Amino acid sequence: MSEVRVRFAPSPTGFFHIGSARTALFNWLYARHTGGKFVLRIEDTDRERNTEEALAVIFNGMRWLGLNWDEGPEVGGRHGPYFQSERSSVYLDYLEKLRGAGRVYEKDGAVYFRLEGERHTAYDAYKKCEVEKVRATPQVIEDRIRGRVERAEEQDFVLFRKNGQPVFHFVNVVDDLTMGITHVIRGEDHLSNTSKHCELFKAFGVNPPVYAHIPLILKENGPGKMSKRDQGSLIEEYQRRRFVPEAVRNYLCLLGWSPKDDREKLDINEIIQLFDLPAIKSNNARFDEKKLSFLNAAYLREMPVERFTEEAWSFLVGEGALKHEGVEIEGWGSRERRYFNQVMKLCQEKVRSIEDLPRFVAYFFTEDFRIDEKASKKVLNKGDPKARLTEIREVLKGLSALTEDILEEKVRALSEQTGAATGEYIHPTRLAVSGTNVGPSFYGLLTVLGKACVLKRLDAFLARMWG
Ligand code: GLU
Repeated sequence: MSEVRVRFAPSPTGFFHIGSARTALFNWLYARHTGGKFVLRIEDTDRERNTEEALAVIFNGMRWLGLNWDEGPEVGGRHGPYFQSERSSVYLDYLEKLRGAGRVYEKDGAVYFRLEGERHTAYDAYKKCEVEKVRATPQVIEDRIRGRVERAEEQDFVLFRKNGQPVFHFVNVVDDLTMGITHVIRGEDHLSNTSKHCELFKAFGVNPPVYAHIPLILKENGPGKMSKRDQGSLIEEYQRRRFVPEAVRNYLCLLGWSPKDDREKLDINEIIQLFDLPAIKSNNARFDEKKLSFLNAAYLREMPVERFTEEAWSFLVGEGALKHEGVEIEGWGSRERRYFNQVMKLCQEKVRSIEDLPRFVAYFFTEDFRIDEKASKKVLNKGDPKARLTEIREVLKGLSALTEDILEEKVRALSEQTGAATGEYIHPTRLAVSGTNVGPSFYGLLTVLGKACVLKRLDAFLARMWG
């Protein structure tokens, strides 16, 4: 069999929709699975929207997701140019081929494609008038996902508009043909166009490519597909919110595909190995934010600590996210950086996303942290927190420095001595030094804060609550 050539053919709208990203991903996966080529082609016949920024959104998004293209803009290739706006001469050549075959005619300034078949007139309910219809042979599409689809075109259709611009169906087919595309993997919304496309391929004397139409992505709640107004529908939003790109990509793979067991977190190389067109599900996929967050947290936990710390630093300090939590980062030097690294090492396994980090860690960097009211009520309404805090304070004061092992041993000894459970020490102490009842491991927390800081915060808390 000849080499597989697939393509992703976005129109630059200024957004990179999750559905488009998944189409790009499935094409990329199929190319990598088969050892074929993945082509990027820009369908920018609508010139007004073809701005540099609109293109950058797509290029950045694809690169962020790791979807490298083998041919296309910024990469080149033998089948260029890869922008439809630069391919006018190709389209005119192909129009001439159809004209030579007697398959086009002009009417009212537009150029039409002539269907083959018996002609008759019929009332068109949409146009509200009599129109000429054609009994054309149905096109049979053996769609790799949808199965056999049959559809007959009934009317000649426009190829070039009055203003001289070629229409989508024409340029799409000419490009797929001249770029040697073997498999067209695209959104289900294009299924209804496919009979037109098959007509054109055959008029050019070639067999249509293999088609695979991917089902829609439905919004999380309610009917209808994800639209760009729905939260979570744009790739640039995940970039901005600092999701882990591998997690987003893994999640997108599951929107219409699965490894046929119930695993969800899979290495991309394994997905490439397992992925195939018949394996794509034909029913619609539903967006599931929880699953995406779960995967994001899992990828975050498992990434090398150096990468996690870099990500955290660039968001919290580089982008100033810590400042928004009231932390003064002006004048931070290598000492602060070392402390920052310790905090991140401690928090990596517990935080669920980079965007949660500023709130999750702010108290490590300021004395002016919030005391969470709910947590406060919950923790302080149990037992005798004032007595417990006073006792643990005495024990901590007596230690030369805090280490996790020693702390654990001392708190256990204290609880044996007084008969209070270790939790009666741990929960109020955590509240006193961090203002909350959630966070990293307790002994790690005290160790990273250090003895002086912990004692200072315990004193301040005792004074504030019972002073
Ligand atoms: N430009 C079309 C779109 O964005 C591509 C259609 C196709 O993949 O054939 O929907």
